[in-house]
Order: sequence, then C-alpha cells, then structure tokens
Amino acid sequence: MNKTTKKVVVLPCSGIGKAYGALARETAYELAERVRPGVTTLTCLPLLVINDPAARKLVTENPVIAIDGCPKECAKKSVEALGKEPAVSYQAIRFYTAHKDLKPEGVARLNEAGQKLAMITADELAETVDRLAAQEEL
Ligand code: SF4
Repeated sequence: MNKTTKKVVVLPCSGIGKAYGALARETAYELAERVRPGVTTLTCLPLLVINDPAARKLVTENPVIAIDGCPKECAKKSVEALGKEPAVSYQAIRFYTAHKDLKPEGVARLNEAGQKLAMITADELAETVDRLAAQEEL
C-alpha cells in the first residue's frame, strides 16, 4: 500500500445572484489561493455541465469538496452525475449558522462580514483538505 498525495478538487456552485453562492465561491478561492495552494485545485461547474474531458477526469480521479449556495446542490449533483460522490459536500448556509455574527450579503461582491466568513471557513476546512490529500490508495 502506497501513501499518495492527491489533489483535492474544490467545486463551488456557480451561484449567480445569491449571497450564499458568492460565499461558496469565495470560500473556494480562499482555500485554493491562501489556505492550501498547491494541494487544492478549483474547477468550474459549467465545464462539468458541458462534459469537458479534463474537468471530468479531474473530478473522477481526485477527492472533491463540493460547496453549494442553495438546496438545489448543483455542484454536488454534478459530481454524482459522473458516478461518484463528493468526499465532502456543504451548503454554504451552514458556514453562516456556525458563525452567526457574520451575515453574508451581496452577490457580485460579498460584504465585509461575508469575506471574513469565507476566510474563517476556509481556515476551518484546512484539516479536511489535509485529510483528503493524504488518503491512502491501494
Ligand atoms: S446550488 Fe443553488 S445557488 Fe448554486 S448554482 Fe445551483 S441553483 Fe444556483
């Protein structure tokens, strides 16, 4: 059994017009650009929708953290449509219920509280990323 280091794919929903969609995206950016650069990689939900081969390969061969902006769970369901389950999935409202002093508002750009919530949440998800990246493969 070899210990392998995997990429962890972070897949936020596109979340247009929704504060929690913006929170999903910002949390994904924080993870990929500040908290765990080089370990996490982002992919774009519409690429899965159009069945892009590179995006499909990335998602099927690596653990995925899906972050959705509402109960429709487009990111999670897009992974499931490829025949696998995300390793972890969240609805972004959960991040707010864990930190009710930080109410995200805004759609194109989050307010200050929303930005802070994305940063704190990404810090909290670091442990999950590390666990997924260190998964052993047979
Ligand atoms: S999960 Fe909700 S917010 Fe995200 S892309 Fe789907 S409908 Fe939009």
